[in-house]
Amino acid sequence: MRLAVEPRDLTHYPFLKESQEFLAARGIKMHDFTASALGRKYLDTAVERVACAIDGKEIYPESQDVVADIATYVLARVLVSCIRDRNLIERLARMEAKRVYFYIHDEENEKLKNHVCETLGITLGLGKMPVIKYVELASTVREPKWRLINRDVDAGQVAISDDEQDILLRERIRKILVSQLPLTIPPSMEHEFAPWCEKITAALQERTLAEFGAIDESAYPPCIQALIAGAAAGVNLSHSGRFAMTAFLNNIGMTPAQVAGIFARSPDFNPDMTMYQVDHITTHEYTTPACQTMLTHGICVNRDSLCDKIAHPLNYYRSKKKLLERKRLREEAQAQTAAEKSVPEKPKE
Ligand code: SF4
Repeated sequence: MRLAVEPRDLTHYPFLKESQEFLAARGIKMHDFTASALGRKYLDTAVERVACAIDGKEIYPESQDVVADIATYVLARVLVSCIRDRNLIERLARMEAKRVYFYIHDEENEKLKNHVCETLGITLGLGKMPVIKYVELASTVREPKWRLINRDVDAGQVAISDDEQDILLRERIRKILVSQLPLTIPPSMEHEFAPWCEKITAALQERTLAEFGAIDESAYPPCIQALIAGAAAGVNLSHSGRFAMTAFLNNIGMTPAQVAGIFARSPDFNPDMTMYQVDHITTHEYTTPACQTMLTHGICVNRDSLCDKIAHPLNYYRSKKKLLERKRLREEAQAQTAAEKSVPEKPKE
């Protein structure tokens, strides 16, 4: 017998097929949203939902309106799919996973809990997990205790406590939500939703700039400076070199066009090919590799003393910017003191 799911439960688990059926039963269709004031309001709320994810909020708050809550979940996924930015997709999936986890962790309706887990392909309460599944889920959890070498493994099964199971459950939910995106959106719908996508892109840009501040070339790590110099000198950069440089510049807030502008310094610059490559990297592969990976690919070069204190080029950039800013303030204070000293005293009357 089919489980009856309450409307409020659907807002907790809006990926259930019952949620889609709930919207369909109320005649809500994707291409109707821009045509009505209510639909546009849902779109505005979906932008707010994505903005929460961009800001790293833990939980997107529920409203009293079940239809709105489900519709904004669906629309938020559609909007980030139109934008096709992996960073954005990751942020949305992380927030939604935490939200689902929050509800499922305290879910008192056991039947519903099992139904949700079944939909997500998760088996609860066994106290163990096959090694392959464990490695897949635990690979993104950083603490050493999660490394397979530190686990009890018996007959291909890894022992896990209830608390650990909850953490892996959250990871599983996040991975599932990420793997479902981007959705395939028809060009006509992308065009229709463009004004809302622009708001999200602007919020993402603002957040990136706030995280990294204004772009400061003098704070680039030595590896990135070397890659930029190489591109300018017409060196044929390896794929990993182009990827690292493009991802880094994009991560610190440059638009794809600005990144392409860096490649334009190269004597054999090909605008179409460059834009294609830059778009591909910024759309699909988004994080600058860590120093260890850069080293493996032979692009960790000209290390300096700051490199010994960091493990990621983006951390180098953040730290160097702070150091340069402190130096600038110190120099300003010294110049101010010197100027005050050099002002001749008024002759005494
Ligand atoms: S240690 Fe890291 S930041 Fe420094 S040059 Fe190597 S890859 Fe770049």
